[in-house]
Amino acid sequence: MLKSHNCGELNKRHIGTKVNLAGWVDRRRDHGGLIFIDIRDREGVVQVVFNPEISKQCHEVANEMRNEYVVRVSGEVTLRPPGTENPKLPTGEIEVIAQNADILNPSKTPPFYINEEVEVEESLRLKYRYLDLRRARMQKNLLLRHQAVKFMRDFLSAKGFIEVETPILIKSTPEGARDYLVPSRLNPGKFYALPQSPQQLKQLLMVAGVEKYFQIARCFRDEDTRADRQPEFTQLDLEMSFIEEDDILNLVEELFISMIETIKPDLRVIKPFTRLTYSEAIERYGTDRPDLRFSLEIGDLSDIVARSDFSVFRSAIAKGDKVKGICAPGCASYTRSQLDELNKMAQGLGAEGLVTIPLGTAGSSLDDLSAEMVRSVASRFLTLDQIKQIAGRLGANMGDLLLIIAGELKLVNKVLGELRCEMGHRLNLANPNLLTFAHIGNFPLLRWDEEAKRWEPEHHPFTAPWDEDIPLLDTAPEKVRGKHYDVVCNGCEIGGGSIRIHTAELQRKVFRLLGYSDEETEERFGHMFEAFQYGAPPHGGIALGLDRIVMILAGEETIREVIAFPKTQEAADLIFNAPSPITEEQLTELHLRLRED
Ligand code: ASP
Repeated sequence: MLKSHNCGELNKRHIGTKVNLAGWVDRRRDHGGLIFIDIRDREGVVQVVFNPEISKQCHEVANEMRNEYVVRVSGEVTLRPPGTENPKLPTGEIEVIAQNADILNPSKTPPFYINEEVEVEESLRLKYRYLDLRRARMQKNLLLRHQAVKFMRDFLSAKGFIEVETPILIKSTPEGARDYLVPSRLNPGKFYALPQSPQQLKQLLMVAGVEKYFQIARCFRDEDTRADRQPEFTQLDLEMSFIEEDDILNLVEELFISMIETIKPDLRVIKPFTRLTYSEAIERYGTDRPDLRFSLEIGDLSDIVARSDFSVFRSAIAKGDKVKGICAPGCASYTRSQLDELNKMAQGLGAEGLVTIPLGTAGSSLDDLSAEMVRSVASRFLTLDQIKQIAGRLGANMGDLLLIIAGELKLVNKVLGELRCEMGHRLNLANPNLLTFAHIGNFPLLRWDEEAKRWEPEHHPFTAPWDEDIPLLDTAPEKVRGKHYDVVCNGCEIGGGSIRIHTAELQRKVFRLLGYSDEETEERFGHMFEAFQYGAPPHGGIALGLDRIVMILAGEETIREVIAFPKTQEAADLIFNAPSPITEEQLTELHLRLRED
């Protein structure tokens, strides 16, 4: 190798050692006689001193060196002179006195600084991703991702899972998005679909007797550009035979806890994971992916305000709507404009309005609350006793601000769920070093799509209904619960799975309910029905979004920060300029003609 040591590994123990280093020029400082060059490799940065009295040749080479040049240096590690140590640098106590140096490859001036964490426009970063990835933060993210994947592989292998690769050129495996299609040259007019997940393939592996499968699997979903989605992303996909829901959930819990304790011990995981039903999550947090790092739970106030003089509340309840609220601790002093802002936010989310009740000033007791202390229209229509009851229900104290919404239950939950997150973040209640996982279960099997006027699977069409709910498939599909579970962490959905249907009969019935004709079902999923007739074991599994998990562990805000070569929000790759046009010849080979319109 061109190097004997990594730059970042050198310290006092190496004093007196002769080292060969190779890397990139991170920074160059010319102090008249002496030139100092920080050399960087993957492990970090070390300062090299070029002294013309020690080697004139070296000093001349150093004179030519510029940022991002690839260089090789040999020299001796010495203690830095007292007062010149750099405590911010792990190698800051030592420096290398250069004896030999050469430039292996010069570099153009990069389009952005690589040696410091400055904000750089994302499209520039993506166009020069190979330079962006050279930055310390990205190197750290790549390493963390590697460690996570390695941990998952080792953990599951030790539990008897085997990794099986499944094809990318396949047929539609629906997960609710559009398929990416690949035209077949050898089969004119026919197309492959890229898998939205290996769902059907992993189920077929269970029929094949694999019993415990996993894969670090690439999935492809052609979705409209939505926040933080990628057209291709990676799942830790797994499937097991002869199991129940808890077996999967316990496995996932053990995997996450041991992984984080091993690769990210500075983060704190709350153990055991919280378990919530879907309806509990919606009722208490307004969402099925609650951020549990803070409480600020939503409370139902309908019974308290039903008999009040507040007509907005009373008439809402008379209509069958609900009145619910949350408490924003310490926010009673919010100004008019701050309250207006929250009101606007609630209206933007579809609420008619937001009722705000500030509770006096902190320190005193709720018992002492008087009407004058409540600066709110509500105090005109609610009795002091009613306000105290509401405060009690929401766990509020003096100095807090109550936020109340009336309306249709679903909407009220949604708006309060958003307000809860907003307040949690404003008040810095979401500790970034805390990981609060939850398993969410008891989802409905189906959801009514009002636009398309048909049932959609809450998860995917292969999810089994609860055994005791199967008769309801014919009579009250909305009441059927699915054996589906999600895993959430800090407000992000990071995975989902289910126990599967494993008989052709029940699978056919569910497809019929979803509005597929028998012919269509046969054409698209005939292979599954066929397979289910050859001794399909009961089975189930889960898929965990690797990008999102690493994003959370890395403390990043988007999954693009933990994917080596992500696409833009417009699904483009800026290095390769993909997607791009193809030649007439290629189109002809693929039996395709482009439409004009
Ligand atoms: N295939 C599912 C998904 O991608 C996960 C599963 O049910 O195992 O969400």
